[in-house]
This record gives sequence, C-alpha cells and structure tokens, in this order.
Amino acid sequence: MEVGLEEVRQAARTVSRWQACLFGEHANAVRAVVAEQLFVRKGARVAFRYAMCGRGDYVVRVGDTFQVRVRGCQHRLCSRCSRRKGLRYVKRVLGWLRRSEKVVLHHVVLTQDLVGLSLREAYDANQERLRRVMKVAHGLGKLRSGLATIHTVWSERTESWHVHTHLLVDGGGCEGAEGLGEWLKDAWIRSEGREDRLAHRRAQFSRLVAKWDGLEEFPDECQQEFFEDRLTALQRAVVYPLRDVTEGVRLAALAAAGEERIREFVEEADCRKTFRLYGEWRSDPAGGASEVEGGQGEEVEGERVAVAAGVQEVRIGKVDRVFRMAREGVVWGVEFVRWLRLRCLNRTAYCRRVLGMCDAVLGESSVLKEDSG
Ligand SMILES: [Zn+2]
Repeated sequence: MEVGLEEVRQAARTVSRWQACLFGEHANAVRAVVAEQLFVRKGARVAFRYAMCGRGDYVVRVGDTFQVRVRGCQHRLCSRCSRRKGLRYVKRVLGWLRRSEKVVLHHVVLTQDLVGLSLREAYDANQERLRRVMKVAHGLGKLRSGLATIHTVWSERTESWHVHTHLLVDGGGCEGAEGLGEWLKDAWIRSEGREDRLAHRRAQFSRLVAKWDGLEEFPDECQQEFFEDRLTALQRAVVYPLRDVTEGVRLAALAAAGEERIREFVEEADCRKTFRLYGEWRSDPAGGASEVEGGQGEEVEGERVAVAAGVQEVRIGKVDRVFRMAREGVVWGVEFVRWLRLRCLNRTAYCRRVLGMCDAVLGESSVLKEDSG
C-alpha cells in the first residue's frame, strides 16, 4: 500500500482500544501531531509505523496462561516504546542494587525556571548545567552511581518550555551519602550563579528514597509494566521512583502546547538522549557489555512466563481483535481479558487504564450478560 499524509493522519487519529490503554487520551492527541511531523521529516514509513504502534501486538496462549507479544514502533518519541526502553534501565539499576551491600538512594528533581527560551536553548542550558554538576559530584567522590532522564513539559502558566531532570542517585559507601540529594540541589543552584533567588531554590526537589546495609533481593516482576504492589516496603519505596525516572517521553505533558510547539518538540527531542547513566551503573552488573542492551528477541507486555519445554503456544489474534472476541462472548477472549485484569496490581496510570478497559470490555460481553441475566 502506498502511504501518504492522509493515511498517516487517518491512522494516527484512529485510536484502537489497546492503543487507548497504551497511550492514554492526552498522549493520543499529541501523537497525531507528532506522526504528521515525522511524515514531513522522516517519511511515510516511519510516520505510519509510529501511528500504528500497538495495533500489531498480539495475544498468545501459552499452556494455561497468556502473553501479549509486542510489535512496537521503537521510536524515541513514542511514549510507549520509550517507556519500554526505560525498563531496560530498570533492569540495569535493579541488577546493581541486588549486588550492592551499602545503598543510599536519593530521588532528585532539578528544574530551571527560564522563561521564553526556545526548546533547543532550554535543552542546551539544562544539559550543560547537569554535565557540570555531575562532573563535580563525581570528582569529589560524592556519587557512586546515577541515572538521569530529561522530562519536557509545556507550562501553560508561564507559556514556556519547562525542561527538568529526574535523577536517581546512589551515594552508598561515599562520604556524606545521606546528604547527597541536598548537595546536588545546592550545586545545581550554585551552577546558575543566582543563588539569591528563593523561588528557584524552592523549585528543586530531593528525597531520600531508601538506604540499607546488606544485600536486598528485588523480584523480577519489578522489571515489568505489571510489577506488583505485593512487595516489601523497601522494594516498593525503590520501584516507584525508579519507574518515574525511567518513564521516558511523556507526551501527555505536551497536551496543552499546541501544534506548533509539538512540531518544535519533534525537531529538538528526536536527536537527544532520553537517559543517562553515571558511575557504576554505566557498566553491566554481571560484567557483560557496557551498553544497555537493545530489544533482542521477542518482547512481551507484562510478565514473561517461564515456558516449560513442550508447552504448546497458540496465537489467538491481535489484542484489539481479542477484545472484540471477549465482547462477543468467545471463551478465549473473555479468558484473556480476565487474565489481563488480574495482572493490573499497581497504581501506575498505565495499569489503571488497562484495568478500566478490561472492566469496560467485560461489561459489554454478551456471555457475561447472559450469565447474570
Ligand atoms: Zn511505539
């Protein structure tokens, strides 16, 4: 099929039920503008693939359970695919935390309140400041490891780009580790050279997430979208900010920006790194390759179930089709939606959307209506 701008536009503006789960209402409005701009910049194939992300995901029956096999667009500006990329950083950090005996973990948010800059200027200013501050922290031996991600928000209040950095840092074993968050805040404020501004000082955030001595086990489900709330208090304290920091591109935060600003975002953000690692976390905890591994093999939405040899796999259909099967009362459709519903054990926005959709689909299911009637 020859794909033109009209097809891309059509694809981007038609949101399937599964895409509504994956992206959410506000992000979907922004996605349509991003897809059109990608058509202009990168051509029809990239734009169409972006617009269709999630519609190729399909359901497989594996033994007595299910899996959702992911067909993502892999694009940097896709909130779903960048979130999935973030999961590899979750895996990297948890890999280190399992092996580290002394951990002092802080969550720090560093903002700049520069008004009226272009997005390129805002990114450059943020990047340069962060580079300087982290270099000093490292040079003074204050920081063992860290992970940073840049979030881009359009502020309606100031009518400006609000670029800020989320950091998860471990000062375990370093001198003054408990004060690392506050030290980073102070260094950030000093780096601007206008220390007197109270409002700027107040806009910075730091919190001690957790600290422990001795090895701490983190279950594998922590790596997945459907990580469970049935974790210990310490594990939960670590997993939520870790998920925040690795969330990647948040398109919903651009919902109020308007089309012209979203196009500017595509121009500038498409060539920038979303995640940065510091110190120990830059290398593989198991001593393998230093790069955070790419999407090798088949990816799974939700928990990957250990499959015993000889267990039969049956491909049921694309997720949206299986939702329709459930509404029509087809047994495997209903079973899949019930299974998916039981996977929604945490309070992330994504999990809440999936849960809401499962309830809606089950509510419309003809079989269930007959059962109750
Ligand atoms: Zn995608």
